[in-house]
Amino acid sequence: CFLNRMDSLDGKVASYITKTADAAMEAAGKADEIIAQNSEIGFLTGLPGAIKDNICTKGTKTTCASKMLETFIPPYNATVIEKLNAQNTVILGKTNMDEFAMGGSTENSAFFPTHNPWNLDYVPGGSSGGSAAAVSAGFAAWALGSDTGGSIRQPASFCGIVGMKPTYGRVSRYGLVAYASSLDQIGPLTRDVTDCAHIMNVIAGHDASDSTSINASVPDYTKSLVQDVKGLKIGIPAEFFTDGMDKEVAAAVNKAIEDFKAMGAEIVEISLPHTKYAIAAYYLIAPAEATTNLSRYDGVSYGSRVEGEDIVSMMTNTRSEKFGEEVKRRIMIGNYALSAGYYDAYYLKALKMRTLVKEDYDKAFAKVDVILAPNAPTTAYKIGSIINDPLQMYLQDVCTVPLNLAGLPGISLPCGISSQGLPIGMQIIGKALDEATIIKTAYTYE
Ligand code: GLN
Repeated sequence: CFLNRMDSLDGKVASYITKTADAAMEAAGKADEIIAQNSEIGFLTGLPGAIKDNICTKGTKTTCASKMLETFIPPYNATVIEKLNAQNTVILGKTNMDEFAMGGSTENSAFFPTHNPWNLDYVPGGSSGGSAAAVSAGFAAWALGSDTGGSIRQPASFCGIVGMKPTYGRVSRYGLVAYASSLDQIGPLTRDVTDCAHIMNVIAGHDASDSTSINASVPDYTKSLVQDVKGLKIGIPAEFFTDGMDKEVAAAVNKAIEDFKAMGAEIVEISLPHTKYAIAAYYLIAPAEATTNLSRYDGVSYGSRVEGEDIVSMMTNTRSEKFGEEVKRRIMIGNYALSAGYYDAYYLKALKMRTLVKEDYDKAFAKVDVILAPNAPTTAYKIGSIINDPLQMYLQDVCTVPLNLAGLPGISLPCGISSQGLPIGMQIIGKALDEATIIKTAYTYE
C-alpha cells in the first residue's frame, strides 16, 4: 500500500531519489513468513521505511543527492541498516536531501527539490526533507535522517511529524557519509512518539566500528511511553524566542508551555546566554570539518570522474563540475577558516564558543530536567524564496544548531498549525544520554 501510494503521488512530492520496490517486496515476503510462524514478533517486522540517501546501503545507490556520488553503490551497510535488517524491516528506498546534507530546504539537491506534502509550493525543510516528506505523505511508515545542525528536527517540524536527534555518540555513524563528523548524528523521523521510541530501541547502542560511539547501556525507550510530567522541571530559554520569530510559532510554543503547566509540570525560566554565538560557531566548525571530509572526492577513490590533461586537472575538473554551489561555498569557508593565518582568529575562536554554548546547557541542566523551545523561527517557506540568500538560510538554524554543538539530544514534535495551514513544531531538549525523559515528555504532550 505504501508502494502504490508512492507510485501514484510521489511524482508531485518527489521525496525519493531511488526506489527499491523489488527488494522491498522480497523483504515484505520474508517478513510475512516470519509473522506467520511466530506469535511474538518485533514491532518493526515488515514495517516499511525510507532511508536518507547519505546512509550507506549495500548494493543500493547512495548519492548524498550529489552528482559526485551519482553512481556510487556502497559495498557495505551502515550499522543502522544492519540493525534494521536484523529486525526484518522493509526498506522502500533512499530519500532526497540537500547535497551532502548542506542546507535546510532540500533545494540544494543536485537532482530535484522535494515539495512539502502539506502545500506543494513550500519546502519540506532539510536537509532530511525527503525523509520528512515521505513519512508525512504516507510514502513510508518511518524514516531515518541525519542531523548535523537541525536536519532531522527542522524538516520534521515543517512536515508535521516527529523527529529525534539522539545524543552525539548514541547511534553509530558507521556508514553515514560524513558532513561534519563532530556534529553528525543519525535519528528517526516518525509519525508519532511511539514509533520514535521503537526505532530508537533498534538503532541506539555502542558500535566498535565508530570510535565516537558511546559505550553506555541503552534503556528500553518504550518504557518511557507513559503520560507523566507531574513535577517535571521544564526550562524555557528566553534566548530562543528571538526578535525575528514568527508570531504564530511563538504563540503555539507558548500554548504548549501552558499545557505542560496544566498537566503538572513546573515551568522554570532559564538563560542560555551564548545562544547568540551558536550560528557563527556552527558555520565555521561545520564547513571546516566538511572541507576535510570532502577532500576524499578527488575523482580517484569514489564516484564520478571528469577527465583532464593530467591528474591535477582531472581532480579540478571533477570537483568543479560535480560539486554544487552550496558545497563549494562551504569548502571555501572551511579552507579559509583552517588556513594558517586565520586558524586562531576563526576556527579556534569557534571552538571556544562551542565550549561556552555547552557550558550554558550544563548550568541549565543543574536546575531543570528538560528544556522546551521553538524548533525553527518560522514555518515552512515557499520554494525558491530564500535559496539565493545563504546568510538568511543559515540564520534559520538558530534554534537547532546549539544542540549539535553541545552534543545533546532533542526531539521535534508538532504543536500547532499556522493560519496558512502549515505545521508548527517545538523542540524538547534533554541531558546527554537522557532520550528517555525526552520521549516521556513528548509522549505526554502528544
Ligand atoms: N541547515 C544546516 C546546514 O546547512 C544543518 C544541516 C544538517 O543538519 N545536516 O548545515
